[in-house]
Amino acid sequence: MNIEDSKVVQSLLSSPQKIVIIPHKNPDGDAIGSTLGLMHYLKNRGQDAVVIAPNDFPKFLKWMPGQEEIIIFENDKDFAQKHITEASLIFTLDFNHLSRVGFMQESLEAADGTFIMIDHHQAPSDYAKVTYSDVHMSSTCEMVYNFIEAIEDTSKITADIANCLYTGIMTDTGSFKYSSTTSRTHRVVADLIDKGAENMAIHNKVFDTNSPSRLHILGCALKNMVILEDYNTAYITLSQEELDENGFKKGDTEGIVNYGLTLDNIIFAVIFIENKDEGIIKISFRSQGNFSVNEFARANFEGGGHDNAAGGKSDISLQETTDKFVGLLDKYKDQLKG
Ligand code: 5GP
Ligand code: MN
Repeated sequence: MNIEDSKVVQSLLSSPQKIVIIPHKNPDGDAIGSTLGLMHYLKNRGQDAVVIAPNDFPKFLKWMPGQEEIIIFENDKDFAQKHITEASLIFTLDFNHLSRVGFMQESLEAADGTFIMIDHHQAPSDYAKVTYSDVHMSSTCEMVYNFIEAIEDTSKITADIANCLYTGIMTDTGSFKYSSTTSRTHRVVADLIDKGAENMAIHNKVFDTNSPSRLHILGCALKNMVILEDYNTAYITLSQEELDENGFKKGDTEGIVNYGLTLDNIIFAVIFIENKDEGIIKISFRSQGNFSVNEFARANFEGGGHDNAAGGKSDISLQETTDKFVGLLDKYKDQLKG
């Protein structure tokens, strides 16, 4: 965060504010970790701060300090709306376009509070007074650490804050192995451990939480995997019927897309998940190397994200979506074979 922005934020925080902190829809470890970490920090400074998530978050995050205080907009609309209307400061974390909050978008667009964005996705839109955007960052949690550092307050990082920020850095870097993981990321993580982040316990709580439904869905997904050697691509489908048969619960499909990339020569992995409630196919894209799934998702499936991890959606059927996808690959053949 640059000095000018940190001065603006310092001066905003020098008086009491009513603060809401918003993660994106379908919040992941980084979204929940960064919003809760920031909430604890601001509350410890005597500020009035709440986290409002557009919808619920997965069970494997339901141990995080402060998670029980998160207001779920979808379940508690009037209460959440009251907070948004009264807010003087609105932090938006881990997303950079207001459409990423789904049905909360209108509510945020109508809000009077001053917006501060902290995010590491590509192509930020221009809705915030302070935009702290850096696509080279491993995670929004690393950026929240930088933000606290920029206002010279790392001594105020408590064990709760450290546990929250550690979680998001760990999940967004695939446990410190993606290319966005820098020596600086490790230094931040080292400091968080010094300040009380329980690294081993966090790893166990997030990753060793398999349930029968998750394992059955994983089995079904792996059986459905289609390998397109000509395009160094592997894709997986999960229909609503398959999810229902296996007792799907939120979070069960998290991370399954990555299996494709563990195959030799596969550099592009995709999962298509049917959601009949929303009438969409939710898509996750992952790549290894130079093939930009952010650009692919943006150009073809109303999505975006990062170079090597992005998401998107489609409102035609599952079969039509995969047909469309396979039909597109020839156009990208040089990049995929390069
Ligand atoms: P995931 O596949 O894990 O849902 O998301 C991968 C990355 O892409 C995340 O950083 C996420 O924020 C981003 N992403 C997922 N879905 C969408 C989408 O529909 N639109 C945009 N712009 N980004 C998305
Ligand atoms: Mn993130």
